[in-house]
Amino acid sequence: MKKAASYALGCKVNQYESEAIAELFAEKGYEIVGIDEAADVYVINTCTVTNFGDKKSRQLIRKVKRQNENAVVAVVGCYAQTAPKEIMEIEGVNLVIGTKDRGQIVEMVEKYNPEDGVENHVSDIMKERVFEPLSIQRLANRTRAYLKIQDGCSQYCAYCIIPFARGPIRSREPKDVLDEVKRLVKNGFQEVVLTGIHVASYGKDRQDTSLLEILRQVHEVEGIRRIRFSSIEPNAVTEEFAKTMAELPKVCQHFHLSLQSGCDKTLKEMNRKYDTEKYRQAAVLLRKYLREVALTTDIIVGFPGETEEDFQESYDFAKEIGFAKIHVFPYSPKKGTPAAERKDQLPNSVKTERSHKLIALSDEMSAAFLGQYIGKTTEVLYEKQVVEGIYEGHTSNYIKVHAKSPKDVSNQIVLTKITHTEGEIAFGEAVF
Ligand code: SF4
Repeated sequence: MKKAASYALGCKVNQYESEAIAELFAEKGYEIVGIDEAADVYVINTCTVTNFGDKKSRQLIRKVKRQNENAVVAVVGCYAQTAPKEIMEIEGVNLVIGTKDRGQIVEMVEKYNPEDGVENHVSDIMKERVFEPLSIQRLANRTRAYLKIQDGCSQYCAYCIIPFARGPIRSREPKDVLDEVKRLVKNGFQEVVLTGIHVASYGKDRQDTSLLEILRQVHEVEGIRRIRFSSIEPNAVTEEFAKTMAELPKVCQHFHLSLQSGCDKTLKEMNRKYDTEKYRQAAVLLRKYLREVALTTDIIVGFPGETEEDFQESYDFAKEIGFAKIHVFPYSPKKGTPAAERKDQLPNSVKTERSHKLIALSDEMSAAFLGQYIGKTTEVLYEKQVVEGIYEGHTSNYIKVHAKSPKDVSNQIVLTKITHTEGEIAFGEAVF
């Protein structure tokens, strides 16, 4: 039996796609093995969101070839899409595929003849208008599943290469989304995370659906207990959006609302399509309708030209909004983007200092957010046992909980009393 390994670097969308690719190989009779094991085929789904992503992708390609020099190495994903020639030059690469046509990957691998050298299957993603139908069955009985509903991005933020790696927005057929949710329920999943490159644009390229419409339809699927979005943009949060979230009880009270900067000048230079006032309104609306809502966000520090005052504005705004967690990213120039061309790049020392300040704020806010739950009882969906008698799960508003339970609570929603917190984890006891 031939062996195949499929591995994703980077985001949840890549992880979803790598799992789908593994299933394509499994359907054709391959045994699926881990990326560290000897295999006949390695599929590496690359990330190019930062130059560091590129480096990690190159290192992994070299590593797998050392594991089996006769293996076929297929490189797919964002880095392959934006720099196929660079990938072709890496020793050991056999096939370069990019961010489309991955549905035919097994055939490409099986037809491949090493005597023909490296094959480049990358084509122009900017002309793509249809969502590539990759899907997963997921026979493994787990709790939470990522479900890709959308691909591409047409926002062109000044620091981001992704629109060139993924092409324009494409929404998945509503029927395919619903069929996959039903399959997931059948396989024991209780929670689904709607994922995409720019989820907020779901439906904008179609006449027959919208983000709220697909959400309502997923909500109706019997057996699904929780629904989340991987992230959402402030512009998507209208009064109708917030109201709908409150009317649909399976929607989790957690939104990752991208901010990137809390300074209007920087937001404009980043080519983000909202300002702090719009962001504030989105936060107020979500809090008006969802009492327990947790907001998390991403913030970039040290964007070109960001002055000390701009950073302070960003910091103060983050403090004003109050997040359950901030993911802090020191700005990293990405070749091919307008921001990387700017002459007013900041030194790493400044970026590091600003990162530390913002991380400290995030830690303070996380502790305050978690602290409110001490002594309270809340519902937790448990995923697994971490040590004998202790189970790990998440609340609807995405607090990670470790709780004692005399019986197995894996894959169940159980009322839990929170007793104390440590770092980002709340500890407690299941209540029966
Ligand atoms: S919204 Fe901006 S940051 Fe996000 S993928 Fe699109 S261009 Fe990149």
